Amino acid sequence: MWEARPAGFTLTAYAVTVFLPDHHPEGVLTLRQIHSARVVDVDREPADKGDGLFTREGKPLGVRTADCYPVVLWAPLQPGTHAALHVGWRGFFRGILEAGVALFSGNPVKAAIGPGICGRCYPVGESFVDWARPWMFRNAQHLHLDLLRAIRDRLESLGVEVVALPPACTFEDLRLPSYRRTGERGRSLLTVVGQI
Ligand SMILES: [Zn+2]
Repeated sequence: MWEARPAGFTLTAYAVTVFLPDHHPEGVLTLRQIHSARVVDVDREPADKGDGLFTREGKPLGVRTADCYPVVLWAPLQPGTHAALHVGWRGFFRGILEAGVALFSGNPVKAAIGPGICGRCYPVGESFVDWARPWMFRNAQHLHLDLLRAIRDRLESLGVEVVALPPACTFEDLRLPSYRRTGERGRSLLTVVGQI
C-alpha cells in the first residue's frame, strides 16, 4: 500500500505522501502543532494552530511528526474531502481522532496511518496515565505503550476503515526522524494529503 521513494513514501490508495526531512515541498497548509484535539476546517478558518486540518475542496494539508503518528482520513464518496491529523498520546487522549472523524458528518471514511514509533520502542513510566492500560504491555523491566494499536482500535470503533498501516517505525528506521532516538526537535516527516 505504501511505496518507498527517494523523497519518502506514497500511498497507492489516495493522494498521500510522507516526505523525509530534506524533501518538504512548498504550498502545503500546516499548523503550529500543540498536542491538542483542535481540527481546523481550512475552508472556513485560518490555518493557525491545532493538530488537524480538514477540507472539502481538495486542498493539500500537512502534519509534521517525529514519533507521533500522522493519520490521514478521506471520504471515498466525496472527492476532495480529506483531513490530516497529528496524533501523539496527548492528542489521542484529548480526542483528536473523534474530532477529525466528526467533520465527515457520518459519511464513510477511510484512513491511512503513516510512520510513528512502535510499542517495542516506546517505554513509558510506571505512573503513565490509566486510560492507556488497554494498550500497554510489559517487556523486560519496562512498560510500553502501543500507540498504533490504540489509534487503530479507536478508528475502528468510530467506524473508519483503516486501509494502510505504517511502512516503518521512526525509531528503528534510521532514515526517519525520531525525537526519542535523537532528541532533535527540528527534523520531522511531513505527511501531506491532497495533490501538490
Ligand atoms: Zn520500533
